[in-house]
Amino acid sequence: MTTHPSVSCAPAATPSKEDQNVLGRLGIPGPKEAPDYSLRYEQTIRLKDHYQSMEPCRVSKASISRLAEELANQLRIDATTDFYALIKANGGRISYVQYDELKAEDGSIFIHTDRTFDVILPIYTAPTRDRFTLAHELGHYVLHSPRERSYALRRDSTPVEWEANWFAAGLLMPEKKFLQAMAETKDDMSLLAARFGVSRQAADERLQSLTQSKAGA
Ligand SMILES: [Zn+2]
Repeated sequence: MTTHPSVSCAPAATPSKEDQNVLGRLGIPGPKEAPDYSLRYEQTIRLKDHYQSMEPCRVSKASISRLAEELANQLRIDATTDFYALIKANGGRISYVQYDELKAEDGSIFIHTDRTFDVILPIYTAPTRDRFTLAHELGHYVLHSPRERSYALRRDSTPVEWEANWFAAGLLMPEKKFLQAMAETKDDMSLLAARFGVSRQAADERLQSLTQSKAGA
């Protein structure tokens, strides 16, 4: 695998718009950005005709998890980490798409020649889901970005997407911390999910994946 680009975590000086969004904090979806959001989406999505789809790095799930966990440790990722700021600090821009425009291109990433990238998020999704999506896109950036002018669409169920999901799970829910928290929360999955700032579904899937890897070991 190629060396991943250096990823830095700039301290968030002021609370982001998302953090100030009380409804968002309560998990109630609301408008996330200025109303010109779809303009950038329209511009970005057109790049598909000129960019190539990303290729998998084809390393094992265990290696990808390890890399993500190292990064999580380095960046001190926890439930309070502002992924919007993290994406922005690494050259990413986030644009939003309305549900009715959402032709399954939510959670897409476009990496440009100058190592900047655009991420597309749906406008009405829970903050926990968005966090996972942003971690997933960061996974593409770390694992699949040596190829410039490239893109990945989340709707595709391809090795590229699996790899980004493995990365996101490892980044947000490092194995050791996750298992430790599971013991502490006494298998209360909702509480466990809240500890890591992920959705209940993401926590369930992480548990399943860790149990399977143990059984297969
Ligand atoms: Zn993806």
